[in-house]
Amino acid sequence: MNVAVLAGGLGGSRFARALTETLAPSDVTVVGNVGDDLEVAGLHVSPDLDTILYTLAGVLDEKKGWGRAGETWNARDAATELGEETWFQVGDRDLGLHLARTEALRRGEPLSAVTARLARVFGVETALLPATDDRLRTWIATPAGEFSFQEWFVRRQHRDEVDGVRFEGAEQAAAAPGVLAALEAADLIAIAPSNPFVSIGPILAVAEIRGALEQRRVPAVAVSPLIGGRTVRGPADRMLARLAGGTGPAHVTRCYQGLIDALVIDEADADEEAGIRTIVTRTLMSDADARRRLAEAVLGVPV
Ligand code: GDP
Ligand code: CA
Repeated sequence: MNVAVLAGGLGGSRFARALTETLAPSDVTVVGNVGDDLEVAGLHVSPDLDTILYTLAGVLDEKKGWGRAGETWNARDAATELGEETWFQVGDRDLGLHLARTEALRRGEPLSAVTARLARVFGVETALLPATDDRLRTWIATPAGEFSFQEWFVRRQHRDEVDGVRFEGAEQAAAAPGVLAALEAADLIAIAPSNPFVSIGPILAVAEIRGALEQRRVPAVAVSPLIGGRTVRGPADRMLARLAGGTGPAHVTRCYQGLIDALVIDEADADEEAGIRTIVTRTLMSDADARRRLAEAVLGVPV
């Protein structure tokens, strides 16, 4: 069974892992968000792709939910001593990856090709694709002004309420090589329990990808990132309340109108109307058993 999954960072990588542990790793294609990408000291960083890569390679710092396990911070500390602002944290090994990727991009290699090569080096058999090779950047409108995604999320610690989200470059962006083919070849399309606005939103802002979901011939199922109306981590609940009018399953469904056939929700949210067919299970991916339970619930959607 082939599954194509749209994924952000934390919830995206955990869910990608759940699928690859339950199916064969090569039966899963992950389409990752690049709206969070940024330049750090001239280096191209793709935080969500890297979280997925590190997770599937088994080298993620699971406690933090980003970066590599056993990381050291010499480069950052040295830069800080020299008076550099280092609000976006990059560990030494992580830095090595950014150096390699940036150099490859500078040589003209597309992000999708670099990502595939990095995945191979890390021994990852799952296809990991950026949504697009084109420049796509998320901007966040807040009462304090508009910020680039990472400036809002990391530097300002997503304390500002969000009035709107804008995806710079999305209109011209084409799906990266392999993305449409993977959606076409999939027996099931899944949307990870990622932030609908800033993790899945930028992927769906690529018209070809949204179109592929709208015209799907196979079931598409999303997993809600909410448990009891609250996020496991991050601002998705606050954003849903402000931008979608509430934090129930129906508000998640509304984010994916016309794009999904079912929503997987947690038992804690089972009493609420979802406005779509629901599959109820425990959705917290706390360990291998929990990941398998969730993956099986998703894969059980008839194909
Ligand atoms: P980011 O790019 O790192 O912000 O990550 P994502 O957008 O992919 O994931 C953030 C979302 O993942 C949050 O809204 C969390 O509620 C959700 N999330 C994280 N872990 C879990 C989990 O185990 N189960 C569920 N249902 N959601 C989760
Ligand atoms: Ca992210």
